Amino acid sequence: MGFCIDEISEDFSKMEAIKGRTELAGILGNLFLRCDEEEIAPLVYVVQGQLSPPFRGEPMGMASRLLIRALSEVKAKKTFSDLNPEEAKKMEKSLDVMLAHLGDPGALAQEVLSQNSPSRLSFLDVFRILERLSQMEGEGSQVDKVSELATLLSRLSPLSARFVARFVMGKLRLGVGDSTIIEALAVSGGGRATKSIVEKAYNICSDLGLVGRKIKQGGLESLSSLEPSPGFPIRVALCERLSSGEDIIAKIGRCSIESKYDGFRCQIHIIAGKVEIFSRNLDSMTSMFPEIVRATKEIFGNRSAIFEGEALGIDPETGTYQPFQVTITRKRKHNVLEKSLEIPLRLLVFDLLYLDGVSWMERPFFERRAKVETLFGAEKFDILEVERPPAGVIGSSRLIFTDEASKVNEFFEEVVEEGFEGIIAKRLDGIYTAGSRNFNWIKLKKSYQGKISDTLDLVIIGYYLGKGQRLKLGIGAILAAVWDRDSKSFASIARIGSGLTEEKWMMLSAMLREIVVPERPVDVMSDVVPDFWVLPRFVVTVRADEISRSSMHAAGRDYLSNTEGTPEGYALRFPRMVSFVRADKKPEDATEVSEIVSLFDLQRSLSQRSQREKPSS
Ligand code: ATP
Repeated sequence: MGFCIDEISEDFSKMEAIKGRTELAGILGNLFLRCDEEEIAPLVYVVQGQLSPPFRGEPMGMASRLLIRALSEVKAKKTFSDLNPEEAKKMEKSLDVMLAHLGDPGALAQEVLSQNSPSRLSFLDVFRILERLSQMEGEGSQVDKVSELATLLSRLSPLSARFVARFVMGKLRLGVGDSTIIEALAVSGGGRATKSIVEKAYNICSDLGLVGRKIKQGGLESLSSLEPSPGFPIRVALCERLSSGEDIIAKIGRCSIESKYDGFRCQIHIIAGKVEIFSRNLDSMTSMFPEIVRATKEIFGNRSAIFEGEALGIDPETGTYQPFQVTITRKRKHNVLEKSLEIPLRLLVFDLLYLDGVSWMERPFFERRAKVETLFGAEKFDILEVERPPAGVIGSSRLIFTDEASKVNEFFEEVVEEGFEGIIAKRLDGIYTAGSRNFNWIKLKKSYQGKISDTLDLVIIGYYLGKGQRLKLGIGAILAAVWDRDSKSFASIARIGSGLTEEKWMMLSAMLREIVVPERPVDVMSDVVPDFWVLPRFVVTVRADEISRSSMHAAGRDYLSNTEGTPEGYALRFPRMVSFVRADKKPEDATEVSEIVSLFDLQRSLSQRSQREKPSS
């Protein structure tokens, strides 16, 4: 017997009232435990605010106008077009006023439908209706959408209408992130201690619904047999940082060194001639890069593969790489072909994760890389040769193998002169660690005199109204946070009030107003209280002069109190935004507390080094 929609809504309502993440995961885990094999994947997606895994599509995001019309139909018990125009206008206006007063489409639907009886619909019935609604497209579809939604709402209890209304507008707001779902799936499969098994499976397929279904079918043990599969993006491996060639060689010995290219990371999947391209963030970019799709088909034909590389724009006249600001203009939904002629892309492949039905993720890097060379026909480069894009749309990244720090430093200097960000060193026996940042890959970027030259990606957790001139923009500053992987929360690190143009500040304030929440979200740690809390959703890139210790912010408090017994965290000195909201980064992709700690240590050792090197007078 499947779930009735009202049972799910009752649990959602309990979850809404909860502050602690552990308790939240407990309720959700219990819900997962009670549901059956057919329900678990749809339920996971709905909790994520979606109808399918996030890499397959966006939340619904229906306009509030359509919801208002649907509610008008329910209220008047007539279709909107049957209402006389005067009556329709009046009704819309009164619902608009109510919505402005309540500030939440869910509360509005609950209020309008307050006389409804408990619903007889099952959760899966509602899910299928929502799927149908999301597929309605094209001319005339709006009228059908409104009446389908009105019919659905009229069959729901007030509480279920609350959640369905929020869902269709893409604003479910249960405060549940992927890490809470992972914990809940672990609870449902045998207890929190098994979380790492669930996380590992998630890192391989990025589909928590699929992971949930596997647990239902074969228990947690069945997750260990989960293999990468074309069509399911693998969560990407990331780099740690070090500050010199000497440190790199001391850490990982003989290694490979590549340029750190500044383009788009692409994870490319092909099976039976079908190609899919995923971004670093696992969004689909297939339709944006037709030349890469074509070249992949040419290379692989009917074979299957998953590989990764960095796509860079090329100047068609000189054949040289374009800067990131130019490459990024290829990220577009319209005029794709036209733009691909103006700025053709080259893909520099740097890793292979799967080939012809077999996972390569556990094989050592030198083996994977050797296969990259054979598959993509790479030329061998010499360290002194100037970097040139390989011929053809797809080639392999340039690399050297060395165990000498001086060679690493030489390569670094050379690529920096060529305008690249720095280098990436790769451990030769390292496996591909999906979804994790560790020393299998180490980046070395331009760095000087104890200042942090690397930018940080921070998550906005709140904002301030500002004073004077700024008051008219509706925003004076943001409160920003880093990602604390251990506690799965966002920890405050800086208040930032500079770096954007007036126009961008206004855009930002409009975006943030949409996600204001009345209290500090459960996955946010901050003693600093902004004028408004927001859901931790948007990432901005920030530059700062220095990282300092501070008792004000929550970032890294545990690290410091563990080592020195003080309650201090870290803060940024003179932070300013250097990008608007980054569509390519999810909150969990933000700079991590552990990176702040290593940057702080790096900064300290660089400044000590420069003190030592100062000539004594
Ligand atoms: P940043 O914002 O500095 O690019 P990040 O947090 O996105 O960092 P890192 O782990 O620091 O990611 O660096 C890895 C990124 O570097 C990859 O996501 C990829 O896009 C890019 N990259 C460029 N060249 C290479 C290369 N040769 N090998 C691996 N990754 C590369």
